[in-house]
Amino acid sequence: MKSSKDANFLDGGLQRFEKIEFNPAACVLNYGQGIIEELKAYKKPDGSILLFHLEEHGLRMRTGAERLCMPAPTVEQFVEGVKATVLANRRWVPPRSKGFLHIRPLLIGNGPVLSLTPAPEFTFLIYVSPMGNYFEGGLQPINLVVENEIHRAVRGGAGSVKAIGNYGAILKAQVDAKANGFSDVLYLDSVHNRYIEETSTANIFLVKDNVISTPALHEGTILPGITRNSVIEIARIEGYQVEERLVSFEELFEADEVFCTGNAVLTPVRSITYLDKRVSYLETGPGGVVSQELHRALSNIQMGLTEFGGTVTL
Ligand code: PMP
Repeated sequence: MKSSKDANFLDGGLQRFEKIEFNPAACVLNYGQGIIEELKAYKKPDGSILLFHLEEHGLRMRTGAERLCMPAPTVEQFVEGVKATVLANRRWVPPRSKGFLHIRPLLIGNGPVLSLTPAPEFTFLIYVSPMGNYFEGGLQPINLVVENEIHRAVRGGAGSVKAIGNYGAILKAQVDAKANGFSDVLYLDSVHNRYIEETSTANIFLVKDNVISTPALHEGTILPGITRNSVIEIARIEGYQVEERLVSFEELFEADEVFCTGNAVLTPVRSITYLDKRVSYLETGPGGVVSQELHRALSNIQMGLTEFGGTVTL
């Protein structure tokens, strides 16, 4: 755990996972002044540990901190903190075939406030936990439902950063979707209720006639996913045309394939339901041709089988 009143975020050292005390008036509890990051450490076949795009996560935390009026660790401090935490927990990183170490950096306004002002004190901490693969046995396509009433983000809101409050605001949609048998929710833009944005925790892509499209980020309502960036880069290297643009929900019903990206995983979409319409992309099998190809390329990078910029080996 590393906590600080000033900008020196590396003074807390390593501690056992333990309870953290909060002042009831802590800004994060009352006004949601907090940013999370999520990343993974993979064990390569030779036993070394691979981290994916560490600096980008540090940069994204800084962008979020600025939006929420918080000082943030520098990218170097972020990288150093994550590396030290992972190395201290090396024995908990499972083999790649079994899972990964989930790494959760958290930056919170932990000081007390009685009205809406930034906290006088901030805490940056990183906790880790081993996790099994989300899906046993390779690709597991998911079923999405398009949300018609709840919006994840609005123009001018905090949708483009990993503000903790973004997630509380969509719990209702997520809970209702799961209760109705769906895997996740796909959100529409709040102005036209027509353009697709992202799911609760992943970016979305569709493939039509071998052209890959994904919603553009310029409205500031979509999280710039680090997996999204990597997949765009990989797809272009593989020779695909990738378009970042407005994508209407009607296009979902014409697409050949749809897939999601998040937390370093590419997940094919089996079906999408919107009101009384449903489209299925895969009757059987693990994913469309393009989804499978990009998934394989991403996995090879994570196994350390393919060199790719932005990976760090410990
Ligand atoms: N959108 C949202 C809302 C998310 O929470 C995540 C997961 N971090 C993503 C997209 C995917 O981002 P990344 O690829 O950086 O994990």
